[in-house]
Amino acid sequence: MTATVAEPNGARARQTYYWRVRNARTRHRPESADQAWHIQPGHPGGAYCDLGHDLDPPAHHTPTLLSRSRPTGRRGDEQEFRGGCLACEWEGPVHSGDGFGDGDNEAVEDAHDHAFPGWQTLPPITKVEDRWVVPQSRSRWAQLISQYPAGWVNQGAPVVAWRRYRREAHAPPHAGRPRYELRVTRPPRDRARHPADQDALF
Ligand SMILES: [Zn+2]
Repeated sequence: MTATVAEPNGARARQTYYWRVRNARTRHRPESADQAWHIQPGHPGGAYCDLGHDLDPPAHHTPTLLSRSRPTGRRGDEQEFRGGCLACEWEGPVHSGDGFGDGDNEAVEDAHDHAFPGWQTLPPITKVEDRWVVPQSRSRWAQLISQYPAGWVNQGAPVVAWRRYRREAHAPPHAGRPRYELRVTRPPRDRARHPADQDALF
């Protein structure tokens, strides 16, 4: 594709443009569509996402993930990612990576910095089984979201969970959980609170 020329800004406009290329409505080859920024399949506003595809933008900032592929010759294609928003034209910085928690995670976090600044301080889910159990339990869910800033839950603020391994990919929203599940590093355990225990180890 020769041109970045006509590409618009903003996740929604880029997604529309991407489909115009894919459907041969532009002078670019449909096969080159993946080189245009578009919403990563499965993420809000993107192909295969079961959250719904409203024609009107949401009333509040709504994180999503943009991606494109860059031909690199012999090494095959390289993936690039950046955060996007379904409500405005904000776009985050570009991150390269393989897309399995590498590059995509950074971009999704940027999008949450845009929509829910300070999300890192939300109370984390600390056990893997609780990722499913807490949202199903009325009382535990109420307890978790009682610590969220007012209005955030209805606007799709993320659930934060301790990750199981390095670069565990963040999970996009779906109809049953209309918010991202962001997998974050478990903090160093009680290091500050129990200096005596630490000393006893050495
Ligand atoms: Zn926005």
